[in-house]
Amino acid sequence: MTPALAATIALVVILAGYTLFCLVSPFGMCPRCHGTGRRRRLLGERPCTWCSSTGSRMRPGARLVAAGIRMHRAARTAQERREVPR
Ligand SMILES: [Zn+2]
Repeated sequence: MTPALAATIALVVILAGYTLFCLVSPFGMCPRCHGTGRRRRLLGERPCTWCSSTGSRMRPGARLVAAGIRMHRAARTAQERREVPR
């Protein structure tokens, strides 16, 4: 096995694992407020604007997976519309 083939296989396995992880757990802890929903400021605390005070954010990979699912559904719907005789 050449090093390039091994690297390609490793990359595909890692990407497949991340995709499955994003399907199982699409939301992760907010990196700004560490899941608290509040951010410390000089004068007290404020609601976190990154996560709208929820403490969780959608993973970047989950956004890609959701976009792919949406595109697939739109294509299937368009294909079904074409196949129905009028
Ligand atoms: Zn946050």
